[in-house]
Amino acid sequence: MKVLVINCGSSSLKYQVFDMTDEQVLAKGLVEKIGLPGSFLKHKSGEAVNKLIEAEIPNHEIAIGLVIDALTHTEYGIVKSMDEIGAVGHRVVHAGEKYASSVLITDDVMAALRECVELAPLHNPPNIMGIEVCAKLMPHVQHVGVFDTAFHQTMPKSAYLYALPLALYEKYGIRRYGFHGTSHRYVSERAADMLKKPINEVKVITCHLGNGASVAAVNGGHSVDTSMGFTPLEGLIMGTRSGDLDPAIVPFLMEKEKMTPEQMSNFLNKKCGVLGVSEVSSDFRVIEDAASAGEQNAQLALDMYYYRVKKYVGAYAAALGGVDAIVFTAGLGENSPEAREHICQGLEYMGVKLDLSRNGVRGKEVDISMPDSKVRVLLIPTNEELVIARDTKEIVTQARN
Ligand code: AMP
Repeated sequence: MKVLVINCGSSSLKYQVFDMTDEQVLAKGLVEKIGLPGSFLKHKSGEAVNKLIEAEIPNHEIAIGLVIDALTHTEYGIVKSMDEIGAVGHRVVHAGEKYASSVLITDDVMAALRECVELAPLHNPPNIMGIEVCAKLMPHVQHVGVFDTAFHQTMPKSAYLYALPLALYEKYGIRRYGFHGTSHRYVSERAADMLKKPINEVKVITCHLGNGASVAAVNGGHSVDTSMGFTPLEGLIMGTRSGDLDPAIVPFLMEKEKMTPEQMSNFLNKKCGVLGVSEVSSDFRVIEDAASAGEQNAQLALDMYYYRVKKYVGAYAAALGGVDAIVFTAGLGENSPEAREHICQGLEYMGVKLDLSRNGVRGKEVDISMPDSKVRVLLIPTNEELVIARDTKEIVTQARN
């Protein structure tokens, strides 16, 4: 079965087609600047074919139409017609408490996802639109929703509730949901494989360190805690998000700086994090270079970032009552030896011994701890698209039988 994976953002759309007989990627690409000047589609198929298609792309329907044209193109396409696509898997950020695993998209599912728009106003509307447009353009194909929140639905109440009056949880659904679940799930499963242990016997701390970043405590394959909360703002310091702060700062700043709730939310999501501290960039490559060149605020931003991750690792070691492995993944986790070194520094007391000679690796699945390290330190490139494709194939196959 060939599976198309769609990740639809507000002005961008990423896609991949997998041949699920051997899980090979047949084609992938992205559409950027949908509805904006300078929109384009970048399409890659096979080893060598890279196509840049510049066109006016005013909306997602045109964008997905262009993706279909690229996939079926006589020269650089990978199928003769879209009938060869067996199913479509969609990344959806928020499914609230309703879904703890991926599901076949039905009218009921769409209604549930629409109910979650209030909880993820930036992410769910484009995700929902992607499903609607694909369903319209590919009406004979089954669609599956794979949710970022699903993996964390196993958290116990003591971890997911905030110390607010419980009535507010019931009234507004205020609780920790957690995000990046597909990534935490994938790397924790790979970690068990690398440790050569059944997943139900391993305790793993997974550090997804990308532009958005979160840590999860995974016990026996189940998420028991994670650093992102009601929204993806909580927890680690991120590219442009503050992460944890004293909630009293919010009304204080709103009053002092005369900010509306919307302005405050925009500020905490877009102007803070390592960008706010370094005043250089939200991109860790730029910040690392600036720090090496002696920019003190860039170094401070990195030090604060590493320290926050380390604190969460310590907290989750306590939550798990022991750790078999710490996993690093996503943009920074996979590519920055410096970040991994600084985060692991000082964790020797809990049995973490990083092998500095192995830590220089980038983007490969590898154990970077010393042979006698009690806690394994693993670098595992994440692959959310593959998880989406696998879930999609499984659910569609079950539905047919
Ligand atoms: P992601 O959201 O997973 O795509 O990760 C994006 C983040 O990873 C950005 O902040 C990048 O700066 C960072 N990143 C990617 N490659 C590197 C690298 N070679 N060194 C340091 N940071 C990197």
